[in-house]
Amino acid sequence: MSILSPQLMPEPYRIKMIEPIRLLPEAVRRQRLAEAGYNTFLLRSADVYIDLLTDSGTNAMSDAQWGALMMGDEAYAGSRSFERLQEAVRDVYGFPYLVPTHQGRGAENLLSKSWIKPGQAVAGNMYFTTTRAHIELAGGVFHDVIVEEAHDAGSNLPFKGNVDLRRLEALMDRTGREGLAYVAVGAPVNMAGGQPVSLDNLRQVAALCRARDARLVLDGARLVENAYMISRREASCQGRPVAEILREMCALVDAIAVSAKKDAYVNIGGFLATRDKGLYEEAMNLCVLYEGLHTYGGLAGRDLEALAVGIREMIQDDWIAHRVAQVEYLGRRLAARGVPIVHPIGGHAVFIDASAFLPHLSQDDLPAQALAAWIYQATGVRAMERGIVSAGRDEAGRNHRPSLELVRLALPRRVYTQTHLDYVADGIARLHERRAQLPGLRFAYEPPRLRFFQSRFVPEPIKAAA
Ligand SMILES: *Cc1c(COP(=O)(O)O)cnc(C)c1O
Repeated sequence: MSILSPQLMPEPYRIKMIEPIRLLPEAVRRQRLAEAGYNTFLLRSADVYIDLLTDSGTNAMSDAQWGALMMGDEAYAGSRSFERLQEAVRDVYGFPYLVPTHQGRGAENLLSKSWIKPGQAVAGNMYFTTTRAHIELAGGVFHDVIVEEAHDAGSNLPFKGNVDLRRLEALMDRTGREGLAYVAVGAPVNMAGGQPVSLDNLRQVAALCRARDARLVLDGARLVENAYMISRREASCQGRPVAEILREMCALVDAIAVSAKKDAYVNIGGFLATRDKGLYEEAMNLCVLYEGLHTYGGLAGRDLEALAVGIREMIQDDWIAHRVAQVEYLGRRLAARGVPIVHPIGGHAVFIDASAFLPHLSQDDLPAQALAAWIYQATGVRAMERGIVSAGRDEAGRNHRPSLELVRLALPRRVYTQTHLDYVADGIARLHERRAQLPGLRFAYEPPRLRFFQSRFVPEPIKAAA
């Protein structure tokens, strides 16, 4: 860990196989962007130079994981690979019961359908797109109980993902025990800019849930990153091994819904893990319906095998330290050139404050969507909108209006080098220098659900700079 410095972060791996990437000429990128309806989700990967759309499923597997693929037991039932995954989940997370799923949203579906009765509330620290969608599909109503500072891109609080205990308690007072399906804590909080939850806050949430007989679950997509940030930022946890903090977080909750495509260095997979036998049995039954038999959950035996190895790799302190250091490096380079970003820098991504980058645009000009488009056009780098487009509409058809308009630069794990990050920072800094000329976007097509994936846009006429 000590070899990492703010200026230099030698990668803790060497390259055994390469994948060519190329930068298209700007005129071609302009054309491809228009063909994609100015939505970075609709670009072809071959037209992207550096792909920071997401860190989900875009990780590079280790030689040990590639080796494990060959050991996959493809039996329909009772696969050996499932047993190895179960052992890894028990050792690392500490849950006795495991239901594998094709990815995180599969686990969210099983959890929501098992535990939500129509009309019940689900409390959480800021919504996540697929999580809220599954809560609503199961008839639940999501209530945000995150601390107020999470909505302030300028606030430098170390744990902006924390649950506001007073808001949670007030919600519990209103719903009563029967009206609340469960409390779902995301750690870290993706939509707030990858902001972590403190161990102390999670302990208090758990104590409140116990006192009120409420069930508590963790969204475990990037728990290792949260545990690492706890080890850096929380005074009582300085220097504690990440593995130990992770175990303690899991010991506080009834279940975790996990997208294995993040922390665990695989390209596909997810699972629900729990200590609640009732949930396990219910989820197992639903798994057969939606995913596949409960010992493979929509995954091949080789996927279970690679995941079992990835779960053991993800808690190694030098790996997670380098991962977070890469993200911080990119953020610092951007900030040093005057690009407005969310502070503190999150664990998996740098979030650009699009409202501050494009102050001449209003929220209805879709500033974050527009900025992601212009970043691709200028640099060949692909980013993602996290603003009004991602937030979608309420039941009455009105736009949700999130307080943050963000563009996310998510770093795949073990994929890009420091030079790649320098290129990204330089290109975006140069775009920032000519920001006054950048127009907003308008919807040309809007699908009914999770609209950010498939919407198409057209540029607005250019407005005068403020
Ligand atoms: C990715 C993610 C999910 C959904 O997982 P998928 O594997 O994409 O289905 C849920 N919650 C969070 C916080 C995530 O980052």
